[in-house]
Amino acid sequence: MRKLELHWQILIGMLLGIVFGFVMTQVDWGKGFVSDWIQPLGTIFVKLLKLIAIPLIIASLVKGISDLKDISKFRNIGVRTILIYIVTTVVAISIGLLMVNVMTPGNGISEETITKLTETYAGDAGVTSKLEEASRQKSSGPLQFVVDMVPENALAAMSNNKLMLQVIFFTVFLGISMLLIGEKNAKPLKNFFDSLNDVVLKMVDLIMLTAPYAVFALLAGVVVSSGDPDLLLALLRYAGVVVLGLVLMIVFYTIVVSSFTKKNPFWFLKEISPAQLLAFSTSSSAATLPVTMERVEEHIGVDKEVSSFVLPVGATINMDGTSLYQGVAAVFISQALGFDLTFGDQLTIVLTALLASIGSAAVPGAGMVMLVIVLESIGFPADKLAIGLALIFAVDRPLDMCRTVVNVTGDATVSMVVAKSVDKLGKPKVKEWDDHLEEVI
Ligand code: ASP
Repeated sequence: MRKLELHWQILIGMLLGIVFGFVMTQVDWGKGFVSDWIQPLGTIFVKLLKLIAIPLIIASLVKGISDLKDISKFRNIGVRTILIYIVTTVVAISIGLLMVNVMTPGNGISEETITKLTETYAGDAGVTSKLEEASRQKSSGPLQFVVDMVPENALAAMSNNKLMLQVIFFTVFLGISMLLIGEKNAKPLKNFFDSLNDVVLKMVDLIMLTAPYAVFALLAGVVVSSGDPDLLLALLRYAGVVVLGLVLMIVFYTIVVSSFTKKNPFWFLKEISPAQLLAFSTSSSAATLPVTMERVEEHIGVDKEVSSFVLPVGATINMDGTSLYQGVAAVFISQALGFDLTFGDQLTIVLTALLASIGSAAVPGAGMVMLVIVLESIGFPADKLAIGLALIFAVDRPLDMCRTVVNVTGDATVSMVVAKSVDKLGKPKVKEWDDHLEEVI
């Protein structure tokens, strides 16, 4: 019998997880059972993916840069990547703003619902912790993010997944210096990293064998911990606008893929789908990164010289889905609370959401922290911030899942475009997930 393709296996796992979660919410002991016995399986899976993220970035980036043989090529890739990331993010925010202004979901929300949402969530630990985090991030100067990118201790940077940009900085520095000392002298180190790279990619394969079961656990966990269904329904129009915007963003990527790389966009979506499904299940582009890299390199044919830089950088600074959501959410909250926005305010949203998406961490819920900063930039009254966040909190998790899919798809699209532009988009070299499996089991 032909083996079911991985993305189908994952999809089936997700659907069964959702159904199982619903069934469990119907029985008294269901919630506790899922959180004690099922959810930990998903948590272990996410931890395993995060565990290999830093070794993978280091090994593949060193390999990518040292294969280049010439620093000017790296500069070329770097500049293109950043410029294209800025363009896609601005497109995303513009789509979001256009839709929320045309569809005005905030005007349809009743006083009663606002009161109910405020009572339920304004004092919620989830909302207050986001406000606290935002005020911590905000109290820094404009160049702080550049300062933060430079580590003072390489090992300390490597020991913290939140410091991914620092690790990238150190590794690029290392790779460039390896190019400068010449091939012969750099060879032993290069061999080491090449081998480490192969090993870590095999670890991704092994972890992915458990993906269909892990997504079952993750989604069952999401379903049992989701909020009051009535409140979710009240926010349906707002959530619909965000989701529609995200779908348009995916359409935008397919147009970009077909016009810039001349590849079939449906083939692209199919090949990248396991990464998208994981992004949806984990709500974290950082946790998905190892799988995104594997798919883009082996199944789409982007050369490592490009993907090893474009994808880790993208996971941390390019968040099209997040910035689209921030645009919609900021305007929705203003509409619902009767806070008028001028055209200038909307332009401010474009700028701050662009910066906020660069500053957002690639972890669940990070987009909402930066939303506070976007709201403050348009002069939103500080005493109403908690109410504003309370309005959208109930649907934040499902929307986080959807926007993370767009974040990951955006990174993959840009890696293809950059690869094509420097003639590094080749034939896919598909390896089976379970190569040599019988030797392990
Ligand atoms: N969860 C998103 C990501 O990891 C960030 C966010 O929008 O909260 O890409």
